[in-house]
Amino acid sequence: MKYSMMICLVSMAVLTFIVLADSEDSADVHGAIGIQRGTLVAEVSALQSLRKGNTSEAIETLERHSYVTAVILLENPVWKTDLAVQMFAVELKHYRKQHAQPESKWTVTEKRLEELLKELKEGNRTIIPTGAVIVKQDSKCLYYKKQCRSCSFLSEQQIGTTLPKGMATISSDFTCPKCGKKQDVRIDIK
Ligand SMILES: [Zn+2]
Repeated sequence: MKYSMMICLVSMAVLTFIVLADSEDSADVHGAIGIQRGTLVAEVSALQSLRKGNTSEAIETLERHSYVTAVILLENPVWKTDLAVQMFAVELKHYRKQHAQPESKWTVTEKRLEELLKELKEGNRTIIPTGAVIVKQDSKCLYYKKQCRSCSFLSEQQIGTTLPKGMATISSDFTCPKCGKKQDVRIDIK
């Protein structure tokens, strides 16, 4: 369990880089490179600790790094609504409920992180697209593009829809202009 959570935390750090590196904004790119420096230090240290069999030291290193990364992303008005950031922030919230130190031992970063995690919407939405790719999501809307399940052709048209409350399925269809295959498009929201 601890090991899988650690993989999750490492993935989160990598994801952070992908998320930030995707941006065209030069300030964000600069920030992303700064975060990468921290990621390099944290990951190499954690790997060394794991190879030595020192799991708790590795966990501590990864926790520290993921907390800082989460604060940076959740304080950013653009990235805090990003689907992956929201999903992993909720994961982190659950993680901290199980593994965080008592409040009296929290660092400044952890205190800020807890404030930010409290602002997260309860009831994490799970969105499973079939024949579609989620482009972005905020608290009210979902934006997606249709994608052919046969040849992977991605439609240029971006479709916006109101995010339904509770469990729902958004259905439509798609005829691929590239290979001609007719197919259903489903987005399951839980
Ligand atoms: Zn196709």
